[in-house]
Amino acid sequence: MIAQPDVQPLDSLLPAEPLLMMGAGPVPIPARVAHANSIVINHLGDTMARVIGQVQSMARYVFQTESPWILGVAGPGSAAMEMSIANLVWPGTKVLSIVNGYFSGRFAEMARRVGGDVTTLDVPLGEAADPQAVAEVLERVRPAVLTIVQGETSSTTFNHRLPEIAQLARQAGCLIVVDAVCTLSTTPLPMDDWGIDAVVTGGQKGLSSIPGVSLIALSQRAWERIESRPAAPPQWCLDARLAAQFWHHDSYHYTAPVSGILALHEALHLVCQETLERRFARHASCSSAMQHAIEALGLSLYGQPAARLHSVIGIEVPDGIDRARVCAHISARYRVEISGSFGLNIVRIGQMGEQCRAHHLFRTLHAFGSTMRDLGAPVDLPSAAAELERALAKMPDDAV
Ligand SMILES: *Cc1c(COP(=O)(O)O)cnc(C)c1O
Repeated sequence: MIAQPDVQPLDSLLPAEPLLMMGAGPVPIPARVAHANSIVINHLGDTMARVIGQVQSMARYVFQTESPWILGVAGPGSAAMEMSIANLVWPGTKVLSIVNGYFSGRFAEMARRVGGDVTTLDVPLGEAADPQAVAEVLERVRPAVLTIVQGETSSTTFNHRLPEIAQLARQAGCLIVVDAVCTLSTTPLPMDDWGIDAVVTGGQKGLSSIPGVSLIALSQRAWERIESRPAAPPQWCLDARLAAQFWHHDSYHYTAPVSGILALHEALHLVCQETLERRFARHASCSSAMQHAIEALGLSLYGQPAARLHSVIGIEVPDGIDRARVCAHISARYRVEISGSFGLNIVRIGQMGEQCRAHHLFRTLHAFGSTMRDLGAPVDLPSAAAELERALAKMPDDAV
């Protein structure tokens, strides 16, 4: 017999005081979300049906779509990405993937794995995709599906010309799939107005819910393409038509992640109560306040100004300082978590959902500035704190 393992109780593994999660996700969750996540109910009962109905109507508001095709998936943001690809792409489908970092490259890889004939448009790092360049490839390749990430978390790049790119795709008769895992509810993404066919999101970033339950919204045009597939997708769990059994017909596909859906319900409800307009304004003000404060420290922001993502700030690490040590030190000494990056010499501070609150910003700025000073960078922390104070003082009291 294999002996029982010698393990520690969870409390002895967790820090005595939770770390402040200010990296690229997961982000802090509101108490209502945490409470909902502790409840288990029947996944096929009347209560669940009502919860699902509300999740769908709130999601329609957050995605800004009248499409009925809102589906959830038990899985990370990547599962929602894969669900969009697995259903819209099949062997031989021509796909154009606009790549400006790690997550947009993941879309291309997913499309290849289901047999798509993938062309990538590689955008120089730190720049947003250029509609002119997209128009040329659309003309040359004539893809059926185009994938793009609204906010490329890995390189902190914002594809701010997405509306024009979506319009070009429409004109070319190409479906457009947008990854909004990092950006949904932090910056405008009106799905219907911009003519987008699929939007995917995860729970643990802009929405400030838990990781592991994600959403996808599909246009009628996308749904018709799915209905016209030559064969069912190979991934049974991600089959949108099977998922519709649960999300539209109150019947069984797989046991839904009930607690996570309840948590998502609460997160969406908080977005609806705040309203999208106020939430976008809160994100824009908090993020630009933080960006000004970082510059007042004497550090540089990554990327071209117009292409900088508000929801995750990229900060260049000065020569002679090791970015892994920055993240380790700020966590150990100041109990704040921030993120390194995949390859670039930057560290990243998240500005998604609950991260955009004045008290979190002050604590994070203090922790980050002190960390840089501790590691030997010449930073001006008093000026940075004054800058943050000045920028936030301009906002209404109830805004942050
Ligand atoms: C985090 C993220 C993902 C992946 O989400 P997971 O939940 O880690 O699978 C995909 N795209 C973007 C833009 C992200 O920020």
